[in-house]
Amino acid sequence: MSAKSQFNDVLRLMREHHKWFDKSIPLIASENIPSPAVREALMSDFGNRYAEGWPGERVYAGCIYIDQVELICNELAKKVFRAEFADCRPTSGVVANLAIYAAFSDPGDYMMAASIPSGGHISHGKKEHFGTAGLVHGLNIEHYPFSKEEMTIDVDATKKKITEMTRDNKPPKLGMFGGSLFLFPHPVKELADFMHDHNMYVNYDGAHVAGLIAGGEFQDPLKEGADSMTMSSHKTLWGPQGGIIVSMEKHSELIKKAIFPGNTSSHHLHHVAGKAIALAESLEFGKEYAKQVINNAKAIAQALAGHGFEVLGEKRGYTASHQIAVDVSKFADGGTVEKNLEKANIILNRQLLPGDIKSGRHYMHPSGIRIGVPEITRLGMKENEMKEIADFIKRVVIDKQDPSRVAQDVSNFRVQFKKVHYTFDNSVGAYEYKSLLGIPQ
Ligand SMILES: *Cc1c(COP(=O)(O)O)cnc(C)c1O
Repeated sequence: MSAKSQFNDVLRLMREHHKWFDKSIPLIASENIPSPAVREALMSDFGNRYAEGWPGERVYAGCIYIDQVELICNELAKKVFRAEFADCRPTSGVVANLAIYAAFSDPGDYMMAASIPSGGHISHGKKEHFGTAGLVHGLNIEHYPFSKEEMTIDVDATKKKITEMTRDNKPPKLGMFGGSLFLFPHPVKELADFMHDHNMYVNYDGAHVAGLIAGGEFQDPLKEGADSMTMSSHKTLWGPQGGIIVSMEKHSELIKKAIFPGNTSSHHLHHVAGKAIALAESLEFGKEYAKQVINNAKAIAQALAGHGFEVLGEKRGYTASHQIAVDVSKFADGGTVEKNLEKANIILNRQLLPGDIKSGRHYMHPSGIRIGVPEITRLGMKENEMKEIADFIKRVVIDKQDPSRVAQDVSNFRVQFKKVHYTFDNSVGAYEYKSLLGIPQ
């Protein structure tokens, strides 16, 4: 195959991807659709430059405009998250977590975090699972006791565990809250004082729920006692892929050094511009959006439960966030369900659920799926559309209808939802392919 034909293939495959997503139902809980303005930032020359360091104290020349944008970005992040300090340089949520490990702990220290089936993220994980915290920073990980019934961390059992670890000469240095399967707030308020009394730092990983926190509709980790909050800029927030850290002022010097030179060199300045735009959008439209996201998540949970699906967290109203977890093991394993739904252009993830590892299930064939509504909410969908989507899912998973037939109906359903909502300018379609080369769609 010639270089030219591969060059053309890449351009063609990107266009095919846009067309596919334009007629699909995107339900990945960690994804969203950015506004045209954010996409424009990603095309700018900012992405070809280096800055390194803090605005005004750069290692590189050529940063006159870049510095102004980065200062706006940090100002907006402080405002949106009601924080004393913000740093928008981490290039991803994982890099943000690594910076916090470096700022607040040393290799060999212990960290408390949620296990993966309890919602923890691989970046909080143990070395033997190739988790970032263990593998890269040498932390030892102990898992929080978790209640499947309440779908959150068990406060009393956690206090007992920290007391025992301290007595056994392995006092934890860092308490990590937050996760990827994240239905209900974590008990930061209930545990932060106890952790501080045990000389621990407290970080809240808001990768998934940052947009809900921005809108004031989830918990408020910094107010509840967390020292810092790490996040991704692209899950319930509307940015390009990236990371942000916010904290109290007293930790700012440690965190800045851990980000640069500790964990970044180039910090993806086009993404910083995109994050600034997304934060401005969040300041203006974030509250209304966060409310609708949570209402939509509850609505799709109820509709699926009504069809006979086992939706987790029933006792607490299924969810208080942007996502729900469904045990599909009555019908098939989560991996098979994910594949069949993808054929119907319904795109979501299989999901390990609490208890899966103990019962011999694993990541490829877990008992669950996770459904997130951030992206479809940004496309303007409301509670009624959640019912329609639940019907599509039922037709594939329970009625075992031919996915290609459902795909046709999904495509028709999507015709009314082609634009990004909650933004200042949506003149370009959400998945419209804008070619610099003038290639037609
Ligand atoms: C997604 C996620 C991350 C990783 O973020 P990236 O931006 O993909 O690096 C970290 N923590 C949690 C809890 C996540 O869900």
